[in-house]
Amino acid sequence: RAKQEGRRGIRVFDTELQSEVRRGAALEQELREALRKDEFVVFYQPQMDLASGKIRGYEALVRWERPDAGIVQPMEFIPVAESTGLIHEVGERVLQRACQDAATWLDGGTVAVNLSPAQIRAEGVVERIARILGETGLPPERLEIEVPESVLLGQAPDALANLDALKALGVRIAMDDFGTGYSSLAYLTRFPFDKIKIDRSFVAQLSEDAGVATIIASIIGLGRSLSVDITAEGVETQEQMTMLRAAGCRTVQGFLFGAPSREIKEPVAGSEEPVIQEG
Ligand code: C2E
Ligand code: MG
Ligand code: MG
Ligand code: MG
Repeated sequence: RAKQEGRRGIRVFDTELQSEVRRGAALEQELREALRKDEFVVFYQPQMDLASGKIRGYEALVRWERPDAGIVQPMEFIPVAESTGLIHEVGERVLQRACQDAATWLDGGTVAVNLSPAQIRAEGVVERIARILGETGLPPERLEIEVPESVLLGQAPDALANLDALKALGVRIAMDDFGTGYSSLAYLTRFPFDKIKIDRSFVAQLSEDAGVATIIASIIGLGRSLSVDITAEGVETQEQMTMLRAAGCRTVQGFLFGAPSREIKEPVAGSEEPVIQEG
């Protein structure tokens, strides 16, 4: 009987797996179609300087606008785009659009674009980004590339070489979702990031958990001693903002300051004060 149940268990698993594979295959076709019809759009979320209260830049966040089904969030299609290799084309569209839009923001400011690990490892990615910058006229220092820390997992020589080359171009590099992976601190010694983004799961626990507040304060201190800019993600409450400010955090992003939207909220403030510290 146990054997029978075991077998049935395996069959159930197989069926689920099969239907998941089918769904994935269907989605892949739909994503190809969406690329053909140009249905990917870019939303922008403001990044605010806490000291001045001014917007210093925006993060570009992709959405899929389906004519019948409305807006599809990235979590629902980025994983399939990644596993099918379509992320390269989707990502290139996002870069193109984001740089084009940012070039029109009157007073400058940065646009932060997320790149998947496969994109940052890809051959020719540096040349493609350089070409997009040239075509859109966006100065390299106004583009910030956000990569998850897992990009540096293992030896990752390609990722490192490409990040170095991008940095040499003048593009800024940010480590996204800091604190969600393993041995986060070790990655900081491997690559000179310009910015660290503290993951919103930390920010969410800020008011309830004194330990988390201590961790955040030490990340901010570390950032300062390494001359790395720190942005806290997912700031939703006044209390979180107050605590982050007290801990020395300079840049914040979250629903409290604005959700991602199709149009930018307000022009970016003039860049008379540098966003990053010297060093
Ligand atoms: P991420 O890069 O960490 O982006 C921040 C996410 O947090 C966004 O979700 C944003 O809408 C959400 N968020 C911002 N403020 C708040 C807040 O105060 N509270 C809460 N609960 N959430 C907040 P979104 O747009 O759904 O994107 C999810 C993830 O999808 C991104 O996480 C990023 O990893 C990925 N992604 C988005 N656009 C792209 C893209 O163009 N290319 C690639 N490769 N990945 C992308
Ligand atoms: Mg979302
Ligand atoms: Mg990001
Ligand atoms: Mg993030």
